[in-house]
Amino acid sequence: MELNAKIPPGPLKDKWSYYKDHAKLVNPANRKKLEVIVVGTGLAGSSAAASLAEMGYKVKSFCFQDSARRAHSVAAQGGVNAAKNYKNDGDSVYRMFYDTIKGGDFRSREANVYRLAECSLALIDQAVAQGVPFGREYGGYLNNRSFGGVQVSRTFYSRGQTGQQLLLGAYQALIRQVAAKTVHLHTRHEMLELVVVEGKARGIIVRNLDTGEIERHSAHAVILATGGFGKIYYLSTLAMGCNASAIWRAHKKGALMASPSWTQIHPTSLPQSGGYQSKLTLMSESLRNDGRIWVPLKKEDPRKPNDIPEQERDYYLERRYPAFGNLAPRDISSRAAKERIDAGFGIGAQKNAVYLDFSKAIREQGKEKIKEKYGNLFSMYQKITDIDAYAEPMMISPAAHFSMGGLWVDYELMTTVPGLFALGEANFADHGANRLGANSLLQACVDGYFVAPYTVSNYLAEEIKTGAIDANRPEFIAAENNAKELLNRLASIKGNKTADYYHKKLGKLLYDHCGLSRNREGLNYAIAEIKKLQEDFYANLAVPGSAQEMNGELEKAGRVADYLEVAQLMCYDALTREESCGAHFREEHQTPEGEALRNDEKFCFVSAWGWNGPDEEPLLVPEPLTFENVNLTVRSYK
Ligand SMILES: Cc1cc2nc3c(=O)[nH]c(=O)nc-3n(C[C@H](O)[C@H](O)[C@H](O)COP(=O)(O)OP(=O)(O)OC[C@H]3O[C@@H](n4cnc5c(N)ncnc54)[C@H](O)[C@@H]3O)c2cc1C
Repeated sequence: MELNAKIPPGPLKDKWSYYKDHAKLVNPANRKKLEVIVVGTGLAGSSAAASLAEMGYKVKSFCFQDSARRAHSVAAQGGVNAAKNYKNDGDSVYRMFYDTIKGGDFRSREANVYRLAECSLALIDQAVAQGVPFGREYGGYLNNRSFGGVQVSRTFYSRGQTGQQLLLGAYQALIRQVAAKTVHLHTRHEMLELVVVEGKARGIIVRNLDTGEIERHSAHAVILATGGFGKIYYLSTLAMGCNASAIWRAHKKGALMASPSWTQIHPTSLPQSGGYQSKLTLMSESLRNDGRIWVPLKKEDPRKPNDIPEQERDYYLERRYPAFGNLAPRDISSRAAKERIDAGFGIGAQKNAVYLDFSKAIREQGKEKIKEKYGNLFSMYQKITDIDAYAEPMMISPAAHFSMGGLWVDYELMTTVPGLFALGEANFADHGANRLGANSLLQACVDGYFVAPYTVSNYLAEEIKTGAIDANRPEFIAAENNAKELLNRLASIKGNKTADYYHKKLGKLLYDHCGLSRNREGLNYAIAEIKKLQEDFYANLAVPGSAQEMNGELEKAGRVADYLEVAQLMCYDALTREESCGAHFREEHQTPEGEALRNDEKFCFVSAWGWNGPDEEPLLVPEPLTFENVNLTVRSYK
């Protein structure tokens, strides 16, 4: 099998225009006859569903939450990037493209990344027109701040609630279409299976989470905008419900998974405080604009942070990366924190954290200014820890946060199953081996508002004669039976260990062996242990109740069943990539200073994986990456 990324011809800066100029169109009268399923109502799903419905397609939208606007995008805090150059600090579309390619350690596709930077300009205008209340300067212009890995200010923000405000914009666009009856919204529905008919994605099987009923839904194209699966680590910054099931079940129906092991471990989460915690809280990266990160120079220093004088502090990011300092990219900042913590300089009750200190910024700018920029983050911190971060440094620690990997998609965001598209965090595109902060809200919005309307139409143009898709076809019945079989199997084990028990164990295995740093021995160990855990799961899982009713434990069990398979692929992916790049740090491949050592000669490709069955090794299908507009350099932030 060979992958065709379908990158348009011509110079980089003209590729997207070329695509739009040549994409096939669907006559408005025909659009009414074509149905599209959109799974997910986060920024990617809501924006895609609203845009396609506005164009005249019949859209069915699904999410497992009780309201579309509770999708996880709502949690995003810090901001969304755009190369507007409002600060006149030298920003441009090319610079944003370059920063993103370099930030991803030269492991993403040039054409996709350029399109992301190009469309960022329009996204800000779109959001403002929808009423998204971005922070403004005194004179009324939109304000910006900086995020990691860049030296310009291109991050637009709504205090610490940027995701929520952007999602309200997308949600109101979606609900307008719901009112117009062009979108049929199914909340509390979980996709369990993809239906493929004669090689094309034609529908999904879902479970009504309130009643347990299984439903079949057909369409001419299916879009998965189901978010990231960083929750596989159990402790993560993601909401409890985030999961891999939709993309994983599509993977088992032929959609390749790309770079599954590239998980971003965010440097500024609140540290784990005990063994019974199920969630970690993110403190936005924006705080690193003004906060300085340090640990005491003395191991196990018993003093309170404010009692440790300046000369006895190690501002290790400023020391190691003077050019970018506290705004070094996430992968590098997290690894640097881990290095200090592992070396015995960690702080806090569990010695698993570092300080994020605002005293200098408060001295220079005043408390009111800091409050204005980050007030809600400081009050959230106080609510959780009972510490006043205006008076004393915050304690932060690395935590699993974002999946750079996901379903493989071509330039059109179509997977290897014709008619199946993946948008937003659910796909692997754009971020390479490390995502730059504030590029993800952007990607989700750009995919949904700007890319899918063209590329999905281009696909649907060939479907105008297909007619309605019959959900009673044998492929639908088989997929429904498959879904029911797994649910009944999980519900009937009646063992004595909860899904959370397995999830926790799996998360720890992954964090220890396929987390911030990896090595061959650890990965082989993890694969063997995950297989054992999986056997135990199918022998001893406890799910109360049945599959024919509302059953939260069964929902969790289904997600953990998938995680146990995804985790094996993640370790396999990490094991076979014998280089370090971005978030993928293989201990065998590092410079004498402990920095990631890429191997461009052998690994300048995306690892896409095919499913060969439960006990078989996955099939590697590489997509070679060619760089015509940037030089492959050693990524340095020094
Ligand atoms: C705490 C936090 C802060 C962040 N802050 C920022 C930031 O400041 N800037 C930035 O750029 N990025 C940030 N990110 C990342 C960013 O928020 C996400 O990558 C982005 O919002 C993902 O959007 P999405 O539309 O792809 O998915 P989501 O918003 O996660 O939506 C997924 C949707 O899929 C649905 N779904 C999933 N599985 C199924 C299924 N099987 N059946 C039915 N429905 C399903 C869900 O119900 C939901 O509606 C942050 C992430 C976190 C965790």
